[in-house]
This record gives sequence, structure tokens and C-alpha cells, in this order.
Amino acid sequence: MKLLKTISLLLPLTSAAVLPREERVSYDGFKVFRVTTGDSLATVQEKLADFSLQQWNLDTSAHIDVAVSPAQLSNFEALGLNVTVMHEDLGADIKAEFDISAVSGLKPRALPDASWFKNYHPYNDHLLFTKDLAATFPSNSEVITSGTTVQGRTITGIHLWGKSGKGSKPAIVFHGNVHAREWITSMTVEYLTYQLVTGYGNNGSAATAMLDAYDFYILPIVNPDGFVYTQTTNRLWRKNRSPAPSGNRCIGTDINRNWPYQWDIPGGSSTDPCDETYRGKTAGDSPENKGLTSLITTLRDTTGIKLYIDWHSYGQYILTPYGYNCTAEAVNQAEEDQLAAGTAAAIKKVGGTTWTTGPSCSTLYATSGSSTDYVGDVGKAEHSITIELRDTGANGFVLPASQILPSGEEQWAGLKYLIANL
Ligand SMILES: [Zn+2]
Repeated sequence: MKLLKTISLLLPLTSAAVLPREERVSYDGFKVFRVTTGDSLATVQEKLADFSLQQWNLDTSAHIDVAVSPAQLSNFEALGLNVTVMHEDLGADIKAEFDISAVSGLKPRALPDASWFKNYHPYNDHLLFTKDLAATFPSNSEVITSGTTVQGRTITGIHLWGKSGKGSKPAIVFHGNVHAREWITSMTVEYLTYQLVTGYGNNGSAATAMLDAYDFYILPIVNPDGFVYTQTTNRLWRKNRSPAPSGNRCIGTDINRNWPYQWDIPGGSSTDPCDETYRGKTAGDSPENKGLTSLITTLRDTTGIKLYIDWHSYGQYILTPYGYNCTAEAVNQAEEDQLAAGTAAAIKKVGGTTWTTGPSCSTLYATSGSSTDYVGDVGKAEHSITIELRDTGANGFVLPASQILPSGEEQWAGLKYLIANL
């Protein structure tokens, strides 16, 4: 006991000495370009090889989206590439996107109000939002957890059910914000949750039909360490915050390349800890993946999983299995194609946005150890989908807060179609 006390007294001093507070990464004056590739991909890549640029997209067949620092700008522009500008000043757009001092400090209230969807929010307010929502719906919901992160945060969400009672219907599972910088995903998932909670019980409403038929397990932020890091230090962080492997300086595993299924298929992830798609040391070794797989396998072994959606951004895609292999077909491929196309049409009807649909690998790029392959094949989900939300490249990850509501509204329409047709 005495020893423990001594250690805990010493710890803050020691860690402060060893780990100085990290400076916030400034993107002031950075310009983000969409560089056209297509037939010129090899030439473009050769020209860009001398620059150390932050690349935003993995599928380079039509274009490469890159953030260019002020120091590199004139040399980059001298290349004479075919470009469009996504952000004139990324730093200014990040400041306009989210002002933490203006939105912090959500007060607990009876029912969170819809003004929540006018802004992005700090992590603790997201937790409070979920807890408040559960508190207003005590007979049909509870706060749930799905494991713990590298830094000890609890992956938190909400379980919703209908008239048959808790845990009696097949599961629908949503994961949001696995990639830390994809902020629109948690806001959109929360919007869908809000529609379910506030719409339930209205005679004939879609929310009532959905909750009476399925139990929803919704986890809006499955990578809270990374999410917090995007708000304190680097807006464009993607991975979790796992420590660098020994002999390496790079932090973070891509949680969506660490699922313990088809994990070591080459080409769909990286073995380099410094890469954005680093797969981790061993299959499923990240604490986040351990916690997430545990809920998935529990649901598989009890009520079964009807639908799984992993929400990402950006690009406007609805992607079905498989990610690890571009020729493997899901057993229900024809049905998946139909559902994805119908969902895309329902989304488009709301705001005119267009969506690309199809199997993940052949439509976008190869992914090994991805959530949808795991939840589909190991979790035995009948439908396992990745949705890449807005936009198609005007803003990319730094999507203005004014698009939160339109994104939520169009996805609610898509979800209504999808679930009615399962
Ligand atoms: Zn993503």
C-alpha cells in the first residue's frame, strides 16, 4: 500500500518530465490540392516523390488529394500538375470548422436538443449526449461499452430496443469514427440515433418499425484516443494511439486493418508502423479491436447480427464485402448490390448527392483485416457494409459543420430504405 502511494505521487512528475506536452500541429497556410492522375498516375507519382506531402486518399486511380505546406508551395506549383484546390488555407478552414471554446460544456438536460447537430463537439460532450439520450428513453435503452482503448478510455455507446424487450431481436450494429479525423461519421451516427429515440412510439413511424424489429448497438466513436488527439494536437490524425513498436518512432495502429480475419493478406494494409494503414504487430492486437470483437462475437452467439455498418468518410461510397480480395464474391452478392443501389437512390432523393456502390476491394481499394470482412464472415452478419460519407472532395475530412444536418438527413432516408428492405 505504502509503495503504491509513493508511486502514484511520483508518477505525475515523472511522466511530465519524460513526456512534454505535444505542440498542436498547425496547418496555417497549407493548401490542399486534388491532383488529377488517371493515365498519368506514374508520372504524377514520380513528380510528387521528392515532396513529403500528406496524402488524404488511398485510391489514386483518378486523383491524389494532398496537403502542401507553405514552404513547399512554390515548388509544388512549379510542377504544373492538373489540380483543383480543396482548401485555400487548411488552417483557416480547420478553425472555422470547430471552435472548442464556443461549443464546450454541454449541460445535462432532459432531452438533448437538435441544435447539437449544428456543430462538431469535444469528446466529453459526445459521452454526455449519449448518456442524456439514454436517460430520456429509460425503458428502451441503456448505455453500453465495448472495451477499453490504449489510453484507458471506455468505448461507449447506446443499446436501443423496442416492444419485445431488451436483447430479444437480431442486432444492428453501427461503428463511427474508427478513423479519428472522419468527424462527420460520429455526428451522422448520432443523428440516426436521435431519429430512432425521438421517433419511437409515434404511430406508424419508421423508428417504431425499426426498433420493434431489431436491437440497435450504436458506438459513435470507437477510436476515442485518436478522436481526442485530432482535437488537441493534430486534426488529421487517423489511427489509434498505440505506442511505437520497439526500434521504431511511429505511433498508432489502423484499427480498420487490425481485425483478426484475413489480416496478413499483402496489399491491403501496411507493415510499416509509420504508414497510415499500419496493421499492428499481430492480428487483433490493439485493445480497441479486442473490445470491439468481443461485442460482435457475443451478438453472433446470441441474437445474431442482421446488419453492420462501419461509417467512414470521405468519397460517398456504399461498400459491401470483400475488402481483402477483389474477385471473391459474397454468397449474397446480388442482394447486396440491390440493397446498396436502392440505399444510394434513397439518399440521393434528399439532397441530390451521388453515391458509388459495389464490393469494397474492386470498387475502391484492397483492405486486409477490415471490419466489414470480419463482421460479415466471423461475426456472421447477414449484411456488412462500409459507408463513406460526404463529400467527394470539395472539403474532404474537414467538412464544414453546416453539412452535419444534410448528411444526417440523407443517411436517415438511406437507412429507412435499407432496413425496410433487409
Ligand atoms: Zn475511414
